[in-house]
Amino acid sequence: MAKEKGIKELTDLPGIGPTTAEKLKELGYDNIEKIATAVPHELSDLVNLSVENAKKAIDAARQATTLEYDTGSAIYDKRKELGKIHTGSKELDELLGGGVETGAITEAYGKFASGKTQIGFQLSVNAQLPKSEGGLEGTVLFIDTEGTFRPERIESLAKHAGLDPAKALENIFVVRAHNSDQQLLAAERADKLIREKNVKLIVVDSLMALFRAEYMGRGSLNERQQKLNQHIHKLQQLADTYGLAVYITNQVMDNPGILFGDPTTPVGGNIVAHAATTRLYMRKSKEEKRIVKLVDSPNMPEGEAVIKITPNGIAG
Ligand code: ATP
Ligand code: MG
Repeated sequence: MAKEKGIKELTDLPGIGPTTAEKLKELGYDNIEKIATAVPHELSDLVNLSVENAKKAIDAARQATTLEYDTGSAIYDKRKELGKIHTGSKELDELLGGGVETGAITEAYGKFASGKTQIGFQLSVNAQLPKSEGGLEGTVLFIDTEGTFRPERIESLAKHAGLDPAKALENIFVVRAHNSDQQLLAAERADKLIREKNVKLIVVDSLMALFRAEYMGRGSLNERQQKLNQHIHKLQQLADTYGLAVYITNQVMDNPGILFGDPTTPVGGNIVAHAATTRLYMRKSKEEKRIVKLVDSPNMPEGEAVIKITPNGIAG
């Protein structure tokens, strides 16, 4: 959407002052597009605005919003430019069509010790590599909600990848979030860091742990989902705006509703399911082996890869 005539904020619309704008925002009408698609009676009922004035504001919002079209081939060209981060495993890269995609959210879910965090570490190192070696020559924002970030591990992985371990650690900006508000803020305030430090990967490990712990019981589930929605939306926006990759890990729960097949489902519900462009289900196999299943991808067939977690990082 593009805006014309300098109309950017709700208060730029005729008849809408700061108080009305604030009220509208609280009610979810937080951008010009929402006003443009509203009907006069609806707005007039909600805030102190006559139907006539509501109509004027809506008309102005409509004029200020135009739809821009991209042809399929233009999108294709843009997608070819998007980089991918190698995972360390050839098999997994192939399953993903070349690696973890930028401009999108990739989710790994699975039980404890299935390798979700290890992949996050490997991506944090690989994102720094030259493009010819499967990296993006960028830095990393690592949102650690479980206190499991391990510099020692990054050191080993960086050494093996041919990077200076000290520099590799300098290029990873870690936020230790102790509650879901800190987690939200870490993403909300990331724009400056991303621009100044050329962040090409955001890791959220894990997405749901704090939300799950804080919002127990059904009473507050709605509020939890609203906050989660806001968080995911911000992550998506960052991926889009800066062409970076977002990698999130997720916990699982046993879903007794599933009688046949694997009853393990990722937590977070539909909001997370819809936001993750690519979902990977990780399972333990023998010793260092892990099975990674591609569960949901817009352009790759479902399939499985076997990876290894070695002292040097992800392989296989
Ligand atoms: P959780 O849900 O508990 O966060 P996770 O899926 O994030 O689990 P990881 O921490 O990624 O699990 O994987 C842990 C596994 O990684 C260990 O069980 C071990 O097998 C392997 N691992 C960790 N460090 C090393 C190492 N230095 N060398 C070899 N393997 C290692
Ligand atoms: Mg973990």
